[in-house]
Amino acid sequence: MKSRVHGLTDVGRRRENNQDQLLVDEERDVYAVADGMGGHAAGEVASSIAIQALSETIAEHPEETVNQLLVDAFQEGNRRICESVLARGEWRGMGTTIVALVRRDDKVIIGHVGDSRTYLLRDGALNQLTDDHSWVAEQVRMGLLTDEEAHKHPMRNIVTRAMGNRLELEVDVSERAVRQGDVFLLCSDGLNSMIGDDLIEEILTTHRSDPVQACRALIDAANEHGGDDNITVIVLAIGSNDSGV
Ligand code: MN
Repeated sequence: MKSRVHGLTDVGRRRENNQDQLLVDEERDVYAVADGMGGHAAGEVASSIAIQALSETIAEHPEETVNQLLVDAFQEGNRRICESVLARGEWRGMGTTIVALVRRDDKVIIGHVGDSRTYLLRDGALNQLTDDHSWVAEQVRMGLLTDEEAHKHPMRNIVTRAMGNRLELEVDVSERAVRQGDVFLLCSDGLNSMIGDDLIEEILTTHRSDPVQACRALIDAANEHGGDDNITVIVLAIGSNDSGV
């Protein structure tokens, strides 16, 4: 199955800098979004280090299984960010989320840390494939907050797992078989904090065979709904060419 992919990032309407980073490597079929945090431009540094560590680790260790590669790559990124913080005091507190998707034949392998997400649109229905490592998501999973309360909660930006916090990093990795017509979306929270899953589903359905249009429409929608944060999206449409194979 062939696929079409596109990625786009936007500063949004309220921030001066874009601390998000994305990776679209069609040759290796590796896609990632990282959302950096920290003052003095440190957020951009952290997200850049994470994306570079991912890209290098995948390029340098083709013999490893993808699941192990993602864990190794994220731990390498984490180690480099922690070392950078020790080397430069003004970078203290910097960190980043990351979500990465690697396609191998008829499956995808997804790894993540933090609240950047992967969604799958299949048969017209949108599902979030990653569990946010965030305070509000943990409260929702324990039944202490509703989705709606979480969406408006003052602590909604608190991530409970990120690269750069400490040297040990737990990474969530999962795999999933792909089907013709699947549309995968990777995004930073600047998308899903501004628009709900119902609108994401509607936009992806409308543009399911055109990732360029889908990315543009998602970012426009997030900006129209406030654009409070940097917005990054990658859309991967499986088998979306005319022949479908
Ligand atoms: Mn963000």
